[in-house]
Amino acid sequence: MKILVTGGAGFIGSAVVRLSVSRGHQVVNLDALTYAACLASLASVADSPLYAFEQADIRDRAALDQVFAKHAPDAVMHLAAESHVDRSIDGPGDFVETNITGTYNMLEAARAWWVQAGRPEGFRFHHVSTDEVFGSLPADPEMKFTEETPYDPRSPYSASKAASDHLVRAWHETYELPVVLTNCSNNYGPYHFPEKLVPVVILNALAGKELPIYGRGDNIRDWLYVEDHADALLTVLERGALGRSYNIGGENERTNLELVHTLCAILNELRPKASGSYADQIAFVADRPGHDGRYAIEPSRIRDELGWRPSVTLEEGLRRTVQWYLDNETWWRPLQGRDGVGERLGTGRGA
Ligand code: NAD
Repeated sequence: MKILVTGGAGFIGSAVVRLSVSRGHQVVNLDALTYAACLASLASVADSPLYAFEQADIRDRAALDQVFAKHAPDAVMHLAAESHVDRSIDGPGDFVETNITGTYNMLEAARAWWVQAGRPEGFRFHHVSTDEVFGSLPADPEMKFTEETPYDPRSPYSASKAASDHLVRAWHETYELPVVLTNCSNNYGPYHFPEKLVPVVILNALAGKELPIYGRGDNIRDWLYVEDHADALLTVLERGALGRSYNIGGENERTNLELVHTLCAILNELRPKASGSYADQIAFVADRPGHDGRYAIEPSRIRDELGWRPSVTLEEGLRRTVQWYLDNETWWRPLQGRDGVGERLGTGRGA
């Protein structure tokens, strides 16, 4: 299959590209290379005959038409987005333009290509989205996000992703574009940009800096290893029902404070400090406005219909992630000086 992946130089997109190429798919990576992109994350596939790169902006419809005409993809996996919640609070305009108008452009370019190609039956437009569109859950562990949970986005980031989800569904209902959608919980893992919670904690800990935690650290997130997310995305692309959405989660709910303590314990083991624990560096900072309390995914649809489940536990995935950052300073060190990175506090994804 020839897959057009948008945002393939980002955190999750690069995992999707690496996995797709390793499974023998042809991949065209369309990415504008914003501050969040890192082509070094694709070093392992860059020379593969299965891989091609197109620098293009999804806000530029004409550029998208050219990429579709040049590469004639069998499927689209649309991940390109502005993804950082804190940045969406500081400057929501880019989120509206890229996440909403950009998705509209992708839908129209894909529709034009699909119609011109004679509506090939196997064509798929896979829209990759977030569980943040569902808003915030109360503490009751019985309550989780299902695919039927009403949308209730609360940040400019999640509102822009919610809008893009609605556009994708509308293009299926109105124009019969063959779409599938996924809404996933917080990802972590190798190649995570050093402004997000997990890498900030690892890298600040190693540098002897404070480990910043919003509020009291009691916000709850459900965590999924990024390579498991990439595997789930390919599963839905290949076998998901048309027009259907699938929630993807790791069934790993933790408070932010618990997550940071687990990371500190792993670091204490893998790279012990001369004295004391990395947990001594934890510092509580003023909470983010509109900070959602709890996200939790009910993943039975993807499990029961498509037989997908995560392959690693949270503890194993975090251990692999810490080890990866210890082994790959040449990847993360150059990113730390970029565009205010390191001064921000990610707590989750989009966070
Ligand atoms: P990221 O910020 O790491 O990467 C985004 C990529 O998109 C970058 O390579 C960037 O250059 C590219 N991009 C941004 N604007 C663009 C534009 N206008 N035109 C073309 N390319 C552009 O993001 P991520 O964390 O990998 O997230 C990828 C997708 O998955 C997003 O749609 C996000 O909403 C969704 N998602 C993320 C998470 C998470 O935990 N990170 C969870 C669920 C869903």
